[in-house]
Amino acid sequence: MIKTDVLVIGAGPVGLFAVHQLGVIGLKAEVVDNLDKVGGQCIELYPDKPIYDIPALTVCTGKSLTENLLEQIKPFKTNIHLNERVEEVIKDKDNWKVTTNKKKVFLTPNIIIAGGVGSFEPRKFPLKEAERFENNGIYYSIKDKNYFKNKKVSIFGGGDSALDWAIELSKISEVTLVHRRDEFRGAEHTAQLARKFEKEGKLKIKTPFQINSIEGKKNIEAITVKTEDGKTEKIVTDCVLGFFGLIMKLGPIVEWGLNLEKKTIPVNTENFETNKKGIFAIGDICTYPGKLKLILSGFHEGALAARGCFKLARPNEKYRFEFSTTSKSIQEKLGVKKSD
Ligand SMILES: Cc1cc2nc3c(=O)[nH]c(=O)nc-3n(C[C@H](O)[C@H](O)[C@H](O)COP(=O)(O)OP(=O)(O)OC[C@H]3O[C@@H](n4cnc5c(N)ncnc54)[C@H](O)[C@@H]3O)c2cc1C
Repeated sequence: MIKTDVLVIGAGPVGLFAVHQLGVIGLKAEVVDNLDKVGGQCIELYPDKPIYDIPALTVCTGKSLTENLLEQIKPFKTNIHLNERVEEVIKDKDNWKVTTNKKKVFLTPNIIIAGGVGSFEPRKFPLKEAERFENNGIYYSIKDKNYFKNKKVSIFGGGDSALDWAIELSKISEVTLVHRRDEFRGAEHTAQLARKFEKEGKLKIKTPFQINSIEGKKNIEAITVKTEDGKTEKIVTDCVLGFFGLIMKLGPIVEWGLNLEKKTIPVNTENFETNKKGIFAIGDICTYPGKLKLILSGFHEGALAARGCFKLARPNEKYRFEFSTTSKSIQEKLGVKKSD
């Protein structure tokens, strides 16, 4: 069991900045995110798009914003538990007992939910057999491309991820790219490169096909794909990768006894606490009169929620407001050297 002052659910931009605001007032945080990387929507949906409304940054990208936020919380050496979804939140005397889908348990007086639009889940193959082979032949993301080296790999999808991985993996494995339409949705130059690879015999492309069945007992041996008019083809394959985009699900959050309003959590605007003492909600997931779903609003909400957490984490201490420019205590926490 991991004990902490605050558990932050969600490592999007708002959850990351909340860690900073908790750190400067001396609170220890642990962060959990369902995704395999930090950054939330900024990284998952628009890593290379420019953002023009982060205060004092004329322009940055989703990726550079995330990198800077990570750099800013480095001094706090916060544990970020990726690939874990918070499933259960139950009261345990003065604390909250929080359990993830991997059965990791946290005990904390405070939870900050920075869950955005909920957890991102990959869209999956609509076949029963696909469930049986999930993570044993069927995959929806790639953690280590070398796992697919010298294997027969079938990649499904027509967007950037499917095209990028088809091109990348074709350099080390035997790849068949399958898409239900003749045209790809991904970047034009990547689609052209995939067609070039096909002409050069480096990659097979099958369109317009969809998955029809999966064959194999313990491991996948082959799949069949079909066209809309019922024509089928068999592809001998070791692994199948599906890149159909992500669905956003509020997920287990709806079961934690919190008030909900149109898939968001109502909070007060004094410290962004929900209807449950010690559970705060900030960023896209919270709602209150005048709420703006902007990153800058989430930063402000995180600053106030952090002060809200202080009361329960340090019941015998008084919170003292300080400026980072003049506070020795804040500068120490940030590891600022005298010459900085
Ligand atoms: C295309 C696009 C462009 C945008 N441009 C701008 C812009 O220019 N300026 C601007 O201010 N905003 C912009 N936004 C909005 C901005 O991205 C969001 O306001 C911001 O990402 C919200 O941050 P967040 O941390 O609250 O949530 P998110 O970024 O959504 O992160 C939430 C995280 O919580 C995780 N999570 C949820 N539930 C669980 C659970 N149960 N267990 C574990 N993890 C969980 C999710 O996996 C996710 O990583 C844009 C959004 C999009 C889609």
